[in-house]
Parts: sequence; structure tokens; C-alpha cells
Amino acid sequence: MYTCANCNIHACREAEPENMPKNCPIRNKELVEEVKEEYGKPEINRFFVTSSVLEHDGYCQWPRLKETVEFCKRMGYKKVGLAFCIGLSKEARVVADLLRKNGIEVVSAVCKSGDIDKSEVGIPDDKKLKPGQHETMCNPILQAKLLNEQKTEFNITVGLCVGHDSLFIRYSEAMVTALIVKDRVLAHNPAGAIYCAEGYFKNRL
Ligand code: SF4
Repeated sequence: MYTCANCNIHACREAEPENMPKNCPIRNKELVEEVKEEYGKPEINRFFVTSSVLEHDGYCQWPRLKETVEFCKRMGYKKVGLAFCIGLSKEARVVADLLRKNGIEVVSAVCKSGDIDKSEVGIPDDKKLKPGQHETMCNPILQAKLLNEQKTEFNITVGLCVGHDSLFIRYSEAMVTALIVKDRVLAHNPAGAIYCAEGYFKNRL
């Protein structure tokens, strides 16, 4: 079992294989070599090298929003998808406008597209925010399929919920990046809870 999250050695970063722990993934040479070949595939290689050069060029200077737009431009995308939460409609519009300003066509699909009531897919009525009423479910699979139908070359998520985002990613035919992840409590900054995990959030996690 691999436990990099609890490793203090980080021999991988310092290129010191002699110091690697017994269960270090670097010891799995077969898989490491297999993956190296994967990066050699032309489409994957271009995607990876472009994102890695971007990391260098904007390091500690460009916010993720700029990185995202810049990445789309460098990849030469002409049509990009935006899968967003209805609660972040204003944010989605800012992102769409910025992409368009940079010459990219934007197809956007809101989470509530489809207008299917939560009860139709088995969500218990007492788990609706307003039980007894029609409540449109989030529909990440439809969001993905709408963008697939429009043949977007790359998709960006804005504020999708935990799990809904996973389904969107699974069903999206194009590669996906998350610009904003949903955290209703921390202004969409889930890292805040991590930074305070031993303090203010100790009893809330
Ligand atoms: S790859 Fe090896 S050295 Fe690097 S964090 Fe994981 S266990 Fe530690």
C-alpha cells in the first residue's frame, strides 16, 4: 500500500532513490516505465507539456483563472465547455466573457439543465431542501452530454458539488479542469478547512 501523504522523506523530489521508504511507489519500476510511455503518446504529451510549461511561466504570478484561459489559448482550443452550478451563475458569466474576449467560443450548461425532479431518480423526499415540492436535481450527466454533443474540445467546471463533479468528469468526452469547487461554507475554498483542521475546524470535521 502506498502512503505518500504520510511520508517525510520525499526522496522522489530530491532524486535520492537510495533513501526511499520500503513501500515507496518508485520501487514499482514496471508501472513507472509503463506510465512514462503513456506520456509519450502525442496527444497526451502535448497536453502535459503545455500544462507543465504553463506552471513554469505563471508560477506564483497568475491566478488559476488566468492559467485556465492561458492553457486554452496555448492548446489552441476554439470551443470550450463550461459546466456550472446555478448558484454560481454570475461567476460562470465572468469566466465565459473572459474566454470569449480571448477568442474562444464557449458552450455553457447549468447544473439544473433537464429540469428533472429529485424524486424521479430516487432521492428521498425528506432529503429535498423543501420536502413535498418539485425540486430540480443537479444533472451532471446531462451537462456532460450536452457539451459532448456540442463537441467542446475542453471542459471547465465551476462550482459543481462533490460527487456531481465526479459524474461530470466520467461522462465528459473532453478533458476536464476544475476552476471552482463547491464549498458553500468556505466561499468555495475547501483548503480553508484543512488549514484550520487542528484549530477552529477541529470539532467540525
Ligand atoms: S514517492 Fe516515495 S519518497 Fe516520495 S512521498 Fe511517496 S513514499 Fe515518499
